Amino acid sequence: MDHAYPGTVISMTLAKLSAQARTFAVLPLIETPRHDTRLPIVPSRGRPPRVHLWHIGCQMNDADREMIAERLREIGCLPECSLEDADLVILITCTVRQNAEQKVYGKFRELTPWKREREGRAIAMTGCMAVEHGEQLLRTLPDLDYVFDVRDADGFFERLQQTYSIDLDGPLPAPPSDRISAYVSVMGGCNEMCTYCIVPFVRGRESSRRVEDIVEQVRRLVDSGVREVTLLGQNVNSYMDPADGRRLWHLLEAVDQVPGLARLRFLTSHPRNATRELFAAMRDLPTVCEALHLPVQAGHDDLLRRMRRVYTVAEYRERIAEAREMIPDLSLSTDIIVGFAGETPDEFAGTRALLEEVGFDVVHLQAYSVRPGTAAARRPDDIPTDEKKRRLNELLALQKECAGRINARLLGEKVEVLLEGRGEDGRMYGRSRQNRMVWCEGTLQASVGDIVAATVTGTSAWQLEARVEESASA
Ligand code: SF4
Repeated sequence: MDHAYPGTVISMTLAKLSAQARTFAVLPLIETPRHDTRLPIVPSRGRPPRVHLWHIGCQMNDADREMIAERLREIGCLPECSLEDADLVILITCTVRQNAEQKVYGKFRELTPWKREREGRAIAMTGCMAVEHGEQLLRTLPDLDYVFDVRDADGFFERLQQTYSIDLDGPLPAPPSDRISAYVSVMGGCNEMCTYCIVPFVRGRESSRRVEDIVEQVRRLVDSGVREVTLLGQNVNSYMDPADGRRLWHLLEAVDQVPGLARLRFLTSHPRNATRELFAAMRDLPTVCEALHLPVQAGHDDLLRRMRRVYTVAEYRERIAEAREMIPDLSLSTDIIVGFAGETPDEFAGTRALLEEVGFDVVHLQAYSVRPGTAAARRPDDIPTDEKKRRLNELLALQKECAGRINARLLGEKVEVLLEGRGEDGRMYGRSRQNRMVWCEGTLQASVGDIVAATVTGTSAWQLEARVEESASA
């Protein structure tokens, strides 16, 4: 199937993990064999290389996109250009679900005529899909030029400097930021081995950054106008400073001290590492928001065992009871996989019962999709698609009802809103500390980035309406 074009057939031919993914290793830079004959187009065009960035997937990829843009500026490239203008496209990919991979192939199909329109244009791929498939990608996608691993991208940036003969007069200045929220990656990889998950293979073993480096990055972001930071890791509550073993709650304490930071969040936590120390930090530190995302994935012990989630439903219940007891006004969100291999009606009923019992504010529901190379891929994916959809819709309807009930209780209550923008109808919108979307009346004097106190005047399952009383901080 060499040199075929994107589609379902391609993903079937790439069903094997790359050698690096199989051994949790970092992928070295891989280039098309034609790289020696590539035309360095940029000097002839008399301007810095322009790069179009495209990404898909989770917040880790948002953070990686920021990092790549910063590295590109450091070597004299212009990131975040339009596709028409660009000399190079970098695809930051996801492979957590099969449909994410198909979207990447779809994007690649669009890029093929773009690349052939002008000599010297190039396409690079990074992110989870790059590590998952490695050099197989170059064989299957003949217009792909580079595959690199975001965990060790130095080789790629060096190659760009050589290939495009970038004349380094110094880094290009970053444009002023209009963001009020930013993601900061504090660790990569995951040491858990949930049977359905590809992350440990494509992101490797856990590796945390130093507390001081993270604080410095947050300080720079706040200086550029950011008010809210979300600390990211695939298993963020197993964070451990590599030099002295400081844990996530120590990191929260350090980041909380950054002057001018208004709000601090973290994603994604594993129930195994949701400890009292962490809940105490959430309760006591003024910037840390009262919102906990704690994926449960399933509500039946047999299912949890097959997923290798290393806790029982009863243990999960205990954790959230503790969190709710310690943190007033806590909002709780979770992830659920529906239709996992062999999910019996009884097991599904357990998940449904847990949702009813706990009353989550938000539930992210996904139908199970097999990831080649994972332990779960050895089990038959035996729940028919229609049945997965039926179970998914049943839980969606249940969650809508539940979230509607929870939000209705907020009618007449005060919420603190960090304003993020203005809608077409002139109202401003933002998020509460509990991460609820709030539409605000009476905010004509306020600006994006302000924090306002508002009284809830209307509710639905997914958002609140509120009247602004006062500016809590500008
Ligand atoms: S904890 Fe999360 S990232 Fe780690 S293996 Fe399990 S599902 Fe994947």
